[in-house]
Amino acid sequence: MSIRRLSPETINRIAAGEVVERPASVVKELVENAIDAGATRIEVATAGGGLALIRVTDDGAGMGADDLALAVERHCTSKLDGGLEAIGTLGFRGEALASIGSVARLALASRQRGSADGFEIAVDGGAVGDPRPVAMAPGTRVEVTDLFFATPARLKFMKSERAETAAITETVRRLAMAHPEIRFSLSGADRTATDLPATGPNGWLDRLDRILGNGFRADAMAIDSGRGPIRLTGFAGLPTHHRGNAAQQYLFVNGRPVRDKLLAGAVRAAYGDFIPHDRHPVLALFLDVPPAEVDVNVHPAKAEVRFRDPGLVRALMIGALREALAAAGHRASDRGATAMIEALRRSAFAPPQAPAARGAERGWEGFAEPAQAVLTDLPRSADRRAAAYVPAAAPAAAPVAAQPLGVPRAQLHETYIVAETEDGLVVVDQHAAHERLVYERLKAALAADGGVPRQILLIPEIVELPEEDVDRLASRAAELQPLGLVLEAFGPGAVAVREVPGLLGHGDTAGLVRDLADEIAELDTATLLADRLDAIAGTMACHGSVRAGRRLRPEEMDALLREMEATPHSGQCIHGRPTYIELKLSDIERLFGRR
Ligand code: ADP
Ligand code: MG
Repeated sequence: MSIRRLSPETINRIAAGEVVERPASVVKELVENAIDAGATRIEVATAGGGLALIRVTDDGAGMGADDLALAVERHCTSKLDGGLEAIGTLGFRGEALASIGSVARLALASRQRGSADGFEIAVDGGAVGDPRPVAMAPGTRVEVTDLFFATPARLKFMKSERAETAAITETVRRLAMAHPEIRFSLSGADRTATDLPATGPNGWLDRLDRILGNGFRADAMAIDSGRGPIRLTGFAGLPTHHRGNAAQQYLFVNGRPVRDKLLAGAVRAAYGDFIPHDRHPVLALFLDVPPAEVDVNVHPAKAEVRFRDPGLVRALMIGALREALAAAGHRASDRGATAMIEALRRSAFAPPQAPAARGAERGWEGFAEPAQAVLTDLPRSADRRAAAYVPAAAPAAAPVAAQPLGVPRAQLHETYIVAETEDGLVVVDQHAAHERLVYERLKAALAADGGVPRQILLIPEIVELPEEDVDRLASRAAELQPLGLVLEAFGPGAVAVREVPGLLGHGDTAGLVRDLADEIAELDTATLLADRLDAIAGTMACHGSVRAGRRLRPEEMDALLREMEATPHSGQCIHGRPTYIELKLSDIERLFGRR
């Protein structure tokens, strides 16, 4: 066997395998080039999921005739002036255009600013033509057709046209988030056209709000924090603004969208208890790092980076997020509540201790914070407290002893049921408890033949969703049916829900469908919904449950407690938090220093 030197064509195709994984990678490279060229306006048009056509037009600096020929040659770049240690542009490898030209038909047309003429060059599966004059406005237009025609093996691996179209949208969204000063438009026969007007340097939140939707603006906390030479800015959603997966957590390093595990870890550490463990906040963070502190040359697609000091970056992220959460007031209130519960638990559930071991000082310390929080809280919500008090319809003579969860005496804050037990009191979180009950009922119905009983909606509910979510749900429609949910695609951007699980009552169908789409997005296509029934049933139960904030009648409260007693696992909600807490009379007496 003799060693041969590979032809430039083969070399380019090998590189293309890594640089151009799918149509969205082409869009990413071309839009990055336009951004690097200083464009203020970038238009992206696609057809056939990008396989038939991708056209990116910009009004940037443009190229002269000589540069055109170099631009499509491998390892030719105008960007690496400062060496690999000082990369200030999105591109630097000089291989995108060469790679794309080797696996597709590429037409590159450009007119330099200040020049009267434009030129065009064509590359056809690696064969480069000669530049010829063309009439055009200043800027650059790149047209890629028949992507992967020269590499049929890769073509076979493409997903559906819709999936590729969606991936392109996501790519443009990411880049547009990082560059609010640039106007982006995205159009084509395979999609609904979108236009993102330029917003100016302070319009960052406008751009994020446009892209993230769902009222992000109202729920966004501004982030601005620095450590040494590193600065973190951006916006993070309040803990109440959460989603079923982490797809809406974006990190940009020096304007470059990256996927980095560091972000997920920092978000988890910072949001911690503020958010249910299976929910994810929405955020877009922008890290500005001196080029020498970060290596972006980790992967040909440049989607990963490596920090010189990852610990510093992580600490900065966690610190900045925690600071914002504290400023938003959630941390303080939550912390007070946690401390209170802990203090109660300590006295309520810990085995009795000798007074000597329980220093009086320590006891006060534990209470100082929550006591204050309760006092300052009172005037504001006193009215609501009074209104929320429902005198129990005195089933006082009921056989209290036979009922571990006691007799309901009151509902507080339209959220908690207070019940009197034989030797103490129980406080039930009505939403958490009901959620568990619905969940167990759903699972029982699923186990039974015939699946979950369905209820036909007189008027189908139309739920608007991103196209990729519509796709996912539609492809899983047959699997959702036994779960009691009958839906179908309704145009590209919505699903029509025709039947819902009868158990869920008149819940929030739109919210349920959106969360299910998130849940399904987490699964790969090979995983059956049946394998993830717990998570799916959990999502459903959450939406079918009595929300906090609903006034319950005494009979309803009683029914809830009785069903809890009869249901396994009812002491914990499906997110692992307790559904009720119990205080024995002896514990209460101890709290008041009577014992
Ligand atoms: P890189 O971006 O890594 O330099 P590319 O293959 O993507 O490599 O592009 C090669 C060169 O072509 C760039 O360095 C740049 O000089 C030029 N170029 C590409 N696209 C554009 C554009 N839209 N406007 C102006 N110049 C461009
Ligand atoms: Mg490039």
